[in-house]
Amino acid sequence: MANLTDIEDGFSATKLFNQGYSYTYDDVIFLPHYIDFPTDAVNLSTKLSTNINLSVPCVASPMDTVTESSMAVAMASLGGIGIIHSNNTAVEQAALIRSAKSHRIPYVSTDIPFVNPNDCILDSSVFDTFPCVFVTENGCQKDRKLLGVVDKLVWNSLSDKEARVSGYMKKNVVTLPNTSSFNDVAGYLAANDLDLVPLVSENGELVDVVSGKDVERINGFPKLGLPTVGKGGEFLVGASIGTRESDKERLKQLVDAGADVIVIDSSQGNSIYQIEMIKYAKKMFPSIDVIGGNVVTMYQAQNLIQAGVDGLRVGMGSGSICTTQEVCAVGRGQATAVYKVASIASQSGIPIIADGGISNSGHIVKALTLGASTVMMGSFLAGSTEAPGVYEFQGGRKVKKYRGMGSLEAMTKGSDARYLGDTAKMKIAQGVVGAVADKGSVLKFIPYTMQAVKQGFQDLGADSLQAAHELLRSGTLRLEARTGAAQIEGGVHGLVSYEKKAF
Ligand code: 5GP
Repeated sequence: MANLTDIEDGFSATKLFNQGYSYTYDDVIFLPHYIDFPTDAVNLSTKLSTNINLSVPCVASPMDTVTESSMAVAMASLGGIGIIHSNNTAVEQAALIRSAKSHRIPYVSTDIPFVNPNDCILDSSVFDTFPCVFVTENGCQKDRKLLGVVDKLVWNSLSDKEARVSGYMKKNVVTLPNTSSFNDVAGYLAANDLDLVPLVSENGELVDVVSGKDVERINGFPKLGLPTVGKGGEFLVGASIGTRESDKERLKQLVDAGADVIVIDSSQGNSIYQIEMIKYAKKMFPSIDVIGGNVVTMYQAQNLIQAGVDGLRVGMGSGSICTTQEVCAVGRGQATAVYKVASIASQSGIPIIADGGISNSGHIVKALTLGASTVMMGSFLAGSTEAPGVYEFQGGRKVKKYRGMGSLEAMTKGSDARYLGDTAKMKIAQGVVGAVADKGSVLKFIPYTMQAVKQGFQDLGADSLQAAHELLRSGTLRLEARTGAAQIEGGVHGLVSYEKKAF
């Protein structure tokens, strides 16, 4: 019988990725290894950057159709993190950070009805989302100082529907502090037999509302690892900036608002502009981690590591909405990019984020095993309830808009700085505007996705990300490139019809 070490089967990563091909995730496949632990023993905890630990290796991309406060809250509550986009004014971006950080519950209500004390309520449809309407100074989301509440039953019994709400609103509203944990709020509702309770900040602003239905919904979702929180129990939140002079002022506002990590958002990160911004940010705010990128080569990575980054974002042209490789003829297959950048970044202990091109749990297993510490996702999250925007129907399917930050539509709002196109005379798109299918809440599908990732790790014989990286680097894990036919064989094939349900 052959000695195990003499069996030459498949390729080591070094051999596979040094043959001159640019491989995507779908181009490569791992050979299974040896299992000596159960699926649930797989530990997916990781690092986003030098000082930020996550229990789940998932990051929501800084895109205006992916990450605002709702996504940031949900991702942090799952143990991942969201990076709030910068396709807005610095004041708006800072407000999104403040909103996310004011939460301790895993979601942000988007449909709370507000009125101003001088308003009258003429139409009962205002009670459609909540059984009461909240009275705040300006009657809107912006200034949420809570003055009172109008209960639907009270409004129904009102003879003069044209009366101003200040005349009949309930002023002494029972509230809980916004720093209460979800379990404390749920316990309070049950103990007091209440339908809902508003959560209010120290200065009296309405932060959110929790109802019995929300408690049921959240408790019905599978539980994941530890949430990503700071010392005071607040969710950790990231924010992106560009590399322009004006981004220095934006950076200050974001740090003041409580951003825990800054991502410098450029499609080609190896530039004098980014290197100067990394140095500036590290000098001005040494305690805040700065993630640079995007890079796909060892040379690019080396330059940003020398400039002082705490993490690197890897990917160019691999995003689902992206046309960079077509338009500019630059980029790299994402599997090769992740492997190559990880090989150099691991020497300095800099974690890397595999950004773009994730469309299933298998891609996540590949990205993490090839050396990434986290995956950053756009399209995978854009159809969720937590993504900004509203659902529409397209050909009978419920969808949400998802657009590239390099699409003409997004660039008219300012995101062309990411492509260094804001100073150019003519704008050229490097992305498209599209739509993705409704996926429900990330609070549900991310835990299932992570369970699938754990199963992949088990098949590889890796019980952690560190173990997977070691197995790959030592050449123990073997890979092969897949032919076109192998890729077809690896998917569902030969059926007249089928239904694909992941969980
Ligand atoms: P996805 O997860 O949808 O495959 O890719 C998301 C990633 O694509 C983002 O995190 C970002 O790095 C990149 N991206 C976002 N918008 C654009 C765009 O318009 N053009 C290009 N080239 N890349 C984009």
